[in-house]
Order: sequence, then C-alpha cells, then structure tokens
Amino acid sequence: MRIANHNERAVLLSSDEAGVDVHTASAGRFGPDLPSIYGNWDDFTAWARALPGNADDVEIDRSLLGSPSPAPRQIFAIGLNYSAHAKESGFEEPEHLPPVFTKYVSALTGPDTTVELPKGGNTDWEVELVVIVGKVASNVATTDAWAHVAGLSVGQDISERVSQLRGPAPQFGLGKSFPGFAPVGPWLVTPDEFSNPDDLELGCSLDGEELQKGRTSELIFSIPELIHGLSETVTLLPGDIIFTGTPAGVGLGRTPQRFIQSGETLVSHIEGIGEITQTFVSTR
Ligand code: ZN
Repeated sequence: MRIANHNERAVLLSSDEAGVDVHTASAGRFGPDLPSIYGNWDDFTAWARALPGNADDVEIDRSLLGSPSPAPRQIFAIGLNYSAHAKESGFEEPEHLPPVFTKYVSALTGPDTTVELPKGGNTDWEVELVVIVGKVASNVATTDAWAHVAGLSVGQDISERVSQLRGPAPQFGLGKSFPGFAPVGPWLVTPDEFSNPDDLELGCSLDGEELQKGRTSELIFSIPELIHGLSETVTLLPGDIIFTGTPAGVGLGRTPQRFIQSGETLVSHIEGIGEITQTFVSTR
C-alpha cells in the first residue's frame, strides 16, 4: 500500500490522484496525521489491508504533499554506500559500517519544493532511497530487519560542499542541513509492494539531463545490513528516517566539477515509488 501525508492528514492512496482519508475511514481510530500512526504501525497496516474498497474521498493535490514522516525524532544519513560513489569521492569502500551522519530535521520537506542556494556555496545533488522506520529497532538481526520498516520513499540528500568539506574534518551535518535540503516523498510505499525491495532503480536529472542512475542492489550495505548495523548502537524509533546513500554521478565527483545553478530543476525518481522535484533559486 501507499500512504501520503496530504495536507497534514494520512491518506491511503488508490492511485497517484486519489485516496481515502485514514482518520475518516477508521472512524477516528488512526490519524488524522501520519506521525501519530507510526507508533501503531502493525495495527494500522492490518486495519488498512482489511479495509473494504472504500470510495476515495481525497483528491491528491501534489502541492499539499508533505514528507511521509514529517516529524521524525531522528534522521540518519549514510555516506559512501555505493562503490562507484566512494571511488569518485576519493575514499576506500567502508568495511564495518559506512559513515553515518544526520540531516537536521529542520531541513526536511515534502516532495516538490523550491530551495534557496546558500550564498558562496557549491550545492550538489544526491538521490537516495529513504527508509522510514515502522517499529522500535534495537540489536535487530539482518533477517528481521525488513519487519522494522514501515516503507520506502524518494529522498534527496542535497549537500553544500564548501561548508561540508572546509575545516580539519568534513562537516556533514551542517553542510547537508540548509533549509529544504532534505526533501522526501512523494509518499511512503510499504515493502510488500515491491517484487524485490532490495533492487530498485534510482536516479536524478537536472534540467532534463540525467546525472545519476543506479540500483539499490548495488548498495555496499543493504537496507537490512544498515538497520542491523545502526541498531547495534542506537535505538531506531517509529517514524525515523534513513537516507541510505547515493550512487555515483554527484557534481563533486565530476571533471570538471559541476554544481546546481539558480533556475535549475532537479527531478529524482525511484522505481515503484515515484519522483520528487526541486527548483533552485538564489538566496535573496
Ligand atoms: Zn548522501
């Protein structure tokens, strides 16, 4: 199933254009918003699967879509998780866990946005599969990891490379957390919707020119391995977001390097989920 955050209400989609308001259809048992549902994910999905074909009562207006998890308590982001991207970044492939950092929650938005380019920066693209946690996860085995996932979404780990790489050590958290630098959407798709949730094509293009294209089967650490590895240290909470890493083709790794210019539009897509669109403008 696919669930959208539409105008701050959870909507169970029947198509890209329409769906059922969860709070109304459940007579107040679930919702109205998505954050209140993540703590009760198994009960919610059991109810949703048993829901008879209710008539759609919500018409989807994409401008009203928010992040499918708009208020996560934690956002994790994974670096260097595709071989070719590790190489273009000038790093060895990670052996234990890849670098883990955060994108601060104030950077999080819905799928279709206008993003201001930070002054004096080099703003870059990183299309990523986003995992939304559906169940508390602590010391989870890889074999049990998918059962802790509510669903998948499309994300952009937009990155400002000057502040990221300046200083004695890389500064990932700040350089990747300018306002609007963490768009996620257009909705959440539950893992059972995919014939193989570990092998999805993802990519992005800037003003129609394809810049990144890969498959999540190329992840050095798969989604189950990431959930296992992260949950050995931290407790993952319902609604938490994990950006799982980007394939090759970022602007920083190109010769010559290339960064986003004012007026350009970035479209990012993942097979079986959909696409998100960011238009960039100069800081006023
Ligand atoms: Zn990234």
